[in-house]
Amino acid sequence: MFPRINRMSFFVAKVGDGLCTGMRYRYSHHFAQCDWGGSNQKVAFYSYARLFKYIVNCVCNTSPKEFLLSHYHSDHYKGLVKASRLSQSKIQALNWEPEMIYLPGMPIIDKREEFYLTLFTMNMFILGDLTGSIELDLFKLIRKMRTKSPTFKYRFLYQGDTFDLAGEKHIVLWPPRRILNDDLTESITKTIDDFNRLKEENEQLKKIYHQIKNSNVVDDLIKQASQEHEKINELSDLIEKNDGVYIEENYELSQNKDTNISELNKKLINIANHLSLAFYKESDLLFMGDVSPQVIPKIIEILQSSNALIYDSIITPHHGTYWDDSLKNLRANYVLVSNGSKLSAGLHPDWYSVGTVISTHLHGDIKL
Ligand SMILES: [Zn+2]
Ligand SMILES: [Zn+2]
Repeated sequence: MFPRINRMSFFVAKVGDGLCTGMRYRYSHHFAQCDWGGSNQKVAFYSYARLFKYIVNCVCNTSPKEFLLSHYHSDHYKGLVKASRLSQSKIQALNWEPEMIYLPGMPIIDKREEFYLTLFTMNMFILGDLTGSIELDLFKLIRKMRTKSPTFKYRFLYQGDTFDLAGEKHIVLWPPRRILNDDLTESITKTIDDFNRLKEENEQLKKIYHQIKNSNVVDDLIKQASQEHEKINELSDLIEKNDGVYIEENYELSQNKDTNISELNKKLINIANHLSLAFYKESDLLFMGDVSPQVIPKIIEILQSSNALIYDSIITPHHGTYWDDSLKNLRANYVLVSNGSKLSAGLHPDWYSVGTVISTHLHGDIKL
């Protein structure tokens, strides 16, 4: 492998089956944080204290300047949920106030409105709180964390976009602005059909569905996420406008045991992984979020055509459990895997042919 010139400082917290990372480049004076999750809220939350210590040891400016969320799965943002539930003085002491929030785009897919309506309804049904839209809920959590100034900037990222992270330019590999005639279409159609069938039999589900539909939250978000050009949004009145969408009752949930509901939820989880954010910085970092095995060859094709197959560090897709043979084209000094007792069993052995595998399950917090 090529010699490591130590251009990056990297921290991957041991959070079990989840992800919480921080990074910076050598000449930059600030850190970026990618995801803030873990196998449970407590573990996820406390990982930030170690990340923070690492940041303070490395630099100067204390709080991460950017926060990137790879996709809308709670094992990637549970720490933020826990933090936002602390008392105001504790939140203040945490000093977690990133100025820029990056989120995965919401691609044009077949039945996009109907799909997001289904997703939000199911989120609300299963999680039982907030608005049902994870994006909106996150904005609310982040706003609560910002004790100095409630406003912040955010941007939805799509394939081909470049964005500043930890003082360097990165390029988005996934999701694209449009995903049409893809395997996704079929699974989305099936999922919506399943959902509609369940909805007809379940009064609570029906009620939540109509509440979200009437609130226009899906249309509003899609409008924000569909800017044709790279656009940085200021926190708008979107949140205030949708404050009334909260649902009072807590549905958490005997229905979780309903096999039809949990089957449907599994399908939605797979689709959300399919829409996960992946990005790279040539020769330094390839970050693959939780992108599904069908997406991996599409990403490798782009990297091949850009001649960007060699990295210092790769964050493996879906905690090292996803694999496609096209990944054999990659080389890295370090293959970084954030995993716990559950997902460590699924670590794909071929990752060892890409580079030196370091996993949080075996090695604890990773500091590079
Ligand atoms: Zn995950
Ligand atoms: Zn995921």
